[in-house]
Amino acid sequence: MENSEVVALLEEIAILLELSGENPFKARAYENVARRIEQLEGRVEDLAKEGRLREIQGVGDALEEKISEYVKTGRLKYHDDLRKKFPDSLFDLFRIPGLGPKRIKQLYEEMKISSIAELEAAAREGRLEVLPGFGKKMEEKILQGIQFSQQQEGRHLYHEALAEAQRLKNLLSKDKAVTRIEIAGSLRRHKEIIKDIDILAASKTPKTLMDRFVNDPQVARVTGHGETKSSVELKSGIAADLRVVSEAEFPYALVYFTGSKEHNVVLRQRAKDLGLKLNEYGLLKGEKNVPCKTEAEIYKKLGLPYIPPELREDMGEFSAKKLPALVTMEDVIALFHCHSKYSDGRNRIAEMAAAAQEAGYQYMAMTDHSQSATIANGLKADRAEKQQAEIDALNKKLKNFHVLKGIESDIRKDGKLDYPISVLKTFDLVIASVHSGLDMNEADATQRVVKAIEDPHTTILGHPTGRLLLERKGFPLNYEKVFDACLANRVAIEINANCHRLDLDWRHVHRAKDRGVMLVIGPDAHSVDGIADMEYGVGIARKGWIEPENLLNCMTLAQFQKWQKG
Ligand SMILES: [Zn+2]
Ligand SMILES: [Zn+2]
Repeated sequence: MENSEVVALLEEIAILLELSGENPFKARAYENVARRIEQLEGRVEDLAKEGRLREIQGVGDALEEKISEYVKTGRLKYHDDLRKKFPDSLFDLFRIPGLGPKRIKQLYEEMKISSIAELEAAAREGRLEVLPGFGKKMEEKILQGIQFSQQQEGRHLYHEALAEAQRLKNLLSKDKAVTRIEIAGSLRRHKEIIKDIDILAASKTPKTLMDRFVNDPQVARVTGHGETKSSVELKSGIAADLRVVSEAEFPYALVYFTGSKEHNVVLRQRAKDLGLKLNEYGLLKGEKNVPCKTEAEIYKKLGLPYIPPELREDMGEFSAKKLPALVTMEDVIALFHCHSKYSDGRNRIAEMAAAAQEAGYQYMAMTDHSQSATIANGLKADRAEKQQAEIDALNKKLKNFHVLKGIESDIRKDGKLDYPISVLKTFDLVIASVHSGLDMNEADATQRVVKAIEDPHTTILGHPTGRLLLERKGFPLNYEKVFDACLANRVAIEINANCHRLDLDWRHVHRAKDRGVMLVIGPDAHSVDGIADMEYGVGIARKGWIEPENLLNCMTLAQFQKWQKG
């Protein structure tokens, strides 16, 4: 059993206790243990087997028993009993941004609302206004939230879909008759949100492959089972399609099933203009197929350079004079935006540095949270000083690696950074980020962010819109004004590589590049494992047409310091 399953269980119990009107301390105890388990290095399952669950802070008799039961049997009677008290549809309400257990309890008890449909009706009819603590504004927010959550239905974060797709690819690759297999679709194009998984394989015996696919234990429902195409819905909620073609058809099918639809429309028209016909089975001249072994050959036959999958959106790839030499993981040598135990990270600075060096990076910037981020254990001036001394000492010991003394400073409501100048000037670099008061209109948000960019200490604008994919839209910005300010003040814009953020959006990344704005991929790593998120950031940078010269991450330390000085 994964630790995350235990965490999810404890979190749900906390919510159920709150809904039941139990003592709030009881709910918090479950939440606290969930947080501890999230940060655990080992597996809860192993601790349970060894009778060591009590080593987790906050675990006493009662919790030890409950966690053991769950780990052993995959169920917990206590949880089942709590859950039975409420209708299932009530839990859908938690998907709506802005609604927590307290409000949901109020809605359920005072208005008998236990589903999204009931909530929507009540909000539309203005019946929520009378509830204490709700009001007209809250009612509007709930309606917007319902609309937003419906739009997110059936959509998944990139890294979750990728993990499932890679698992399926590995499973199918075990079939000896498979000669080629690729993950196609929006995953291959590195979209930030994925609707379904498309896998394409070449095999002479498609039937055995189809059987293997539909019988995968992770399949919840088979929605189609044919000879060359099958569709399933996985337990994780993601839909997946498998198509099997012949070896000869494979390159044409790969272009076709990689998409995007818009890109393919242009390709087909191009073929037509050349007196050819392109479809998923071949490139036809009259009745005869024009043989191509790779995608690149197909593009060449259409008079085009090879277009990398990330660029296949019909957003300039056909009209560009020259396609970009896209950045790769090998090009990135510097890590910006990392957290340590000083704020809300899980590892010590030395551990982060060792992991970064091990992963092939040449230097990194430690950027813990600033003082007003109290929940994230932000650094007051004295702790910042202590951290800097620790980094100085560490740098003396490190060989061929350097740690920069940075900070992720909150941008306050008035656009000011979170320290007096006397503290700000002690950092090697400052990432300025908005973490609170995200509910702003475009004019206010732009003014706030631009003011922070104009501070002479700011080096990087962190996760520029504050969006959380599938959860929170992020504030609107006047991008032209933000880009202008970045250019005028030599500030780089972050592509935050955390899959919940991927912020700046790749569509704006492309625009920023065209304007000559410098960009930087930030892993926002809160542990040594978080460093690997760089890969997702590189994917988004590629989707935004980014070349090594557009990124701080591809500069040597000396080049970066020179860039900073201007
Ligand atoms: Zn942040
Ligand atoms: Zn951060």
